[in-house]
Amino acid sequence: MSEHIPVSPATRRVVVAGGGFGGFFATRELGRLLKPAEAHVTLVSDTDAMLYQPLLPDVAVGALDPRRVAVPLRTTLRRARIVRGRVLSVDAGRGSVEVAIQTRTIDVPYDLLLLAPGAVTRMRDIPGLAEHAVGFKTAAEALYLRELVLSQLEIADSEPDPARRRARMTFVVAGAGYAGTELAAQMGRLTGNLLPGFPALSPADVSWMLLDAADAVMPELGGELGEAALRLLRRRGVDVPLQTSISAVDSSSVHLTDGTTIACSTVIWRAGVTANPLVTTLGLPLTRGRVAVTPTLDVAGHTGIFVIGDAAAVPDLTSGAGQRLCPPTAQHAMRQAKTAARNIAARLHGQPLRPYRHHDLGLVVDLGGAGAVARPLGIPLRGWPAKVVARGYHLYALPSLRRRLSVLSAWAVAGKRPNDVSFGLLGLQQALAARSEHPALPFSPHTLSPPAQTHPPAAPGGSPIPGHG
Ligand SMILES: Cc1cc2nc3c(=O)[nH]c(=O)nc-3n(C[C@H](O)[C@H](O)[C@H](O)COP(=O)(O)OP(=O)(O)OC[C@H]3O[C@@H](n4cnc5c(N)ncnc54)[C@H](O)[C@@H]3O)c2cc1C
Repeated sequence: MSEHIPVSPATRRVVVAGGGFGGFFATRELGRLLKPAEAHVTLVSDTDAMLYQPLLPDVAVGALDPRRVAVPLRTTLRRARIVRGRVLSVDAGRGSVEVAIQTRTIDVPYDLLLLAPGAVTRMRDIPGLAEHAVGFKTAAEALYLRELVLSQLEIADSEPDPARRRARMTFVVAGAGYAGTELAAQMGRLTGNLLPGFPALSPADVSWMLLDAADAVMPELGGELGEAALRLLRRRGVDVPLQTSISAVDSSSVHLTDGTTIACSTVIWRAGVTANPLVTTLGLPLTRGRVAVTPTLDVAGHTGIFVIGDAAAVPDLTSGAGQRLCPPTAQHAMRQAKTAARNIAARLHGQPLRPYRHHDLGLVVDLGGAGAVARPLGIPLRGWPAKVVARGYHLYALPSLRRRLSVLSAWAVAGKRPNDVSFGLLGLQQALAARSEHPALPFSPHTLSPPAQTHPPAAPGGSPIPGHG
């Protein structure tokens, strides 16, 4: 039985679903554009903070505590009502969103709806993948990885059998998009720097592997910078088999499509994302698994519904006739958020809507230490100049002065072996690539048990797609 949130009949109701990049920036902009008397803005989010995902590699290596990269919704978005819960369904006919809050559901009515539930890790129908592969998209996954890698070093240090010791110290990352590449490069550097503290381990015991079904690392970066990143990875001892993917995983080994079997106990799955399964259940038109929106970010035939971010197929108007889609990046999500908020305000004010148009600013990739590559505004950079641009961009994009200062101070003291403490608080169930994006209901003793499997069905038959992101 659903309850109903009461609202004044005179108030126009705008509901935003998802408190990540798109939802956060849209809600903030709506608060600036709409007077409290003219509209009531509600943000429904299954987390209590906007997670700045581009800095998750820093969380994984321990340079940043996750709270430094999580911007709280309730205290930051004061003009909106925050409902912490999970959107289960949308009734477009009635103009209502069904939200699960712990064990009960409520209906949140809307006049205009903005959907921004993001994406989830794309799983594949690979034997053992769902049971053994750790993901890298949530704060829990990044923290778990950190604890896992530290604990593998500890266990390997007292493992007398050389083969088992080596398996403990072998880490395989699948997906050489920017997130997988940053993770392998930064983690490879970290484990190398931590080794002097483990007298029984030698550099020859430690092995990081970054593999991808594509024939290049970070193809979106262009050949020259991708090659520079590849050289840096190899200098750090990261093995990079390309045109190779995973065919099976078990608790002690990973099997590759080139026929190799590698003894290892850690497999990290970062081979692409797919739109949040919520949007595929709403009966809205889809393009490549994302909701097809018009250039003004609303859905054809559903003028009261806007969709942005990783869940939306947004035509890229800067590419000829707009036949290409905007890539699923934070850069686009936060800018689409502002356009969508302005268009929602325009619709309430009876004004014309504006199309979304953004020239991609490029990519920044922090590989740890002095290693970085970047292409800001088409200018290829590497080394320290790229590092300064990468960090400068993240500080600019992080939407909280307090968080910016906090991140800056943490970077200043991180050093080569940042924060090498593992409290061992997280379990594998909270970090499995197939599960971790689904247990995000409000934290309570009930949510500590593994959540029901609600991930979209894996794609049939196959090898991982080239990683992006
Ligand atoms: C490790 C990593 C590194 C990255 N690096 C970069 C980078 O350098 N540059 C870049 O541009 N992009 C980067 N990205 C991609 C970027 O983070 C995403 O493109 C961006 O977050 C998309 O924004 P969004 O609002 O669509 O989704 P998200 O930011 O993921 O937000 C979605 C929100 O909706 C919530 N939600 C989901 N389902 C529901 C539901 N049913 N009910 C209520 N709430 C729900 C989620 O919990 C989440 O808070 C990176 C991503 C990762 C994982």
